[in-house]
Parts: sequence; C-alpha cells; structure tokens
Amino acid sequence: MRLVDEVFPVERPPTRELITSHRCEECDDIARTFAPYSAADLPAEVIAAHYGSLCLLSASALAHYMPAYLRYAVSHFTDDEDPSSVVEFLVYQLCPEPLSHDGYEEHLRGTLEGFSERQGEALEAFLDLVQAEPGLPEFFGDWESHRARFRELWRTRGRA
Ligand SMILES: [Zn+2]
Repeated sequence: MRLVDEVFPVERPPTRELITSHRCEECDDIARTFAPYSAADLPAEVIAAHYGSLCLLSASALAHYMPAYLRYAVSHFTDDEDPSSVVEFLVYQLCPEPLSHDGYEEHLRGTLEGFSERQGEALEAFLDLVQAEPGLPEFFGDWESHRARFRELWRTRGRA
C-alpha cells in the first residue's frame, strides 16, 4: 500500500509511558515491548505476536504503529482461506461492535483521535482490500455493518 507510506510520515514513537494509557502488567509489558521501536522498524515477530494488542495502545501509539500493522497485514493477508490474525484484529479494531461498558464507547472514539483525514482514507483503503478478497467479507459476517461502524467511529472520533 503506497498510500500508507505517503500519509504516515516517519515520526518518533511515543515514549514508553505514553504507549499504553492503562497501567497493569499486560499494558506495561506491551509498552516495554514496543518502546525500543518506531513504526519503521517494529519487527514482524512483534506484530505477529501482538495482533491482539491494538486495543490496548494509546491513541497516539495506535496512530504511530498503525502503518507497521497495515504494511504487515497486506503482505500477510490470509492464512489458509481465513484472514490472518493481524487482518482479523485490525478489522475488529477499526469496526468495533457496539458495547455498552461504561466508558468503552468514549475509549473507542478516542482511539482514532490521532489520525489525519488522509490517514483515515488509508484505513478505508485497507477495508476496501479486505472487501475485495474472496471469502473475507463473508468471514466477518455482515460486512456492510462493519464498514458502517468504521464510518461512524471515524465521524465521531475524538469526541467525549
Ligand atoms: Zn491494562
């Protein structure tokens, strides 16, 4: 995805204290693991092992490391007939199910706060690729609802 390289500038990663906003053993462990790397040199093994950690990254860390995940995802798109775990969890992150936990909706809206308009277009382009892959939209069930949830999250991003 050349668009990813265009719209995500090479930047310094957030400092370790800012990689995750929650403080617990798991979040501290993620912060320690990611801290030595930027999006440009985050190792494939870290991405592959941490496909489920996107939801624990702070808004600034999600915006910073997202291009690394997108690049990895498009070169590891499917695993057998199914989406790879990285693709699957990127879709869950971008198209979250409505949940009624106290504060969770606000957390989700906050997660896209660090993205620019053009970076939002790159996220849409990623979802277009998932949609174009035979069998993948079906894997996720009602795909149109997933797209609609992303658009809603994007439209309301950063709002408390
Ligand atoms: Zn935590």
